[in-house]
Amino acid sequence: MSAPFEVLLYYKYSQIENPEAYAASHRELCLRLNLLGRILIAKEGLNGTVSGTEEDCRRYREALDADPITAGIAWKIDPVLEHAFPRLSIKVRDEVVPLALGEDDFSPEELTATHLKPEDWREVMKEDDVVLIDARNDYEWEIGHFKGAMLPKVNSFREMPQWVREHREELEGKKILTYCTGGIRCEKFSGFLLKEGLTDVYQLDGGIVTYGKNEEVRGEGFEGECYVFDERLSVPVNRTEGAKIISQCAQCGETSVRYRNCSWMPCNAQFICCERCEDEAGRYCKSVCREAAIMSPVAVVGG
Ligand SMILES: [Zn+2]
Ligand SMILES: [Zn+2]
Repeated sequence: MSAPFEVLLYYKYSQIENPEAYAASHRELCLRLNLLGRILIAKEGLNGTVSGTEEDCRRYREALDADPITAGIAWKIDPVLEHAFPRLSIKVRDEVVPLALGEDDFSPEELTATHLKPEDWREVMKEDDVVLIDARNDYEWEIGHFKGAMLPKVNSFREMPQWVREHREELEGKKILTYCTGGIRCEKFSGFLLKEGLTDVYQLDGGIVTYGKNEEVRGEGFEGECYVFDERLSVPVNRTEGAKIISQCAQCGETSVRYRNCSWMPCNAQFICCERCEDEAGRYCKSVCREAAIMSPVAVVGG
């Protein structure tokens, strides 16, 4: 199977003096290369995921690698058959990953935990007195996470500091391992844990995506799939014999990783829906949504 397109996932903590001007020229670059996707730009750096042809993605990587602001990015590259985003969105924000620490905000360039390569992560994970923290949102870890990880019930990254303070006792004195999709959230989150006075903290270098691509560990210890921010919605991680799917269709309970949005537009919630249930009963996350859609069909999202 040839895959003439690529999805790139990347981040870079770096000083960007004038984020507005940088965003404008970055947009020109993306338009010239016909890239689609989502990029956040802040004074502290940038965080993006884009899709384009192999050739355009290669030229994009070359352009960023040659720019002192973005040199040294650890690119995560996935081959795909077509564009994985419907449009291009480039936004300027206060932070590339908002922890909303206000006055206590800090840069991961000053403070972040030790990075563990996939091979080391796999071994340290098995030690006693280790806690794993999934630094992603609940809808992300629902379809896949490391076995035994703490799974914070949060809707957004900015709720993590509060979660840490509530679970302080379980973390105290432990070796703490944090992981996220591509690594950027852990740069900040692990630094936050150190700032909170927890001392033995490590982060998964390159995140789940890199762990899944590593030919030695082959995703060992990860259950389910990894939620991604493009139209694929999830990608496989564990390529060992112990791989399994851990999430279920919200309607029938069969194992499935198929995320869809509820067709009842005022709801629009993302939920897991197997193909058979969608065919037979429609794409509704719960029966009240189906009933509401029948009463008021105008608010149903097609497709
Ligand atoms: Zn089902
Ligand atoms: Zn619904």
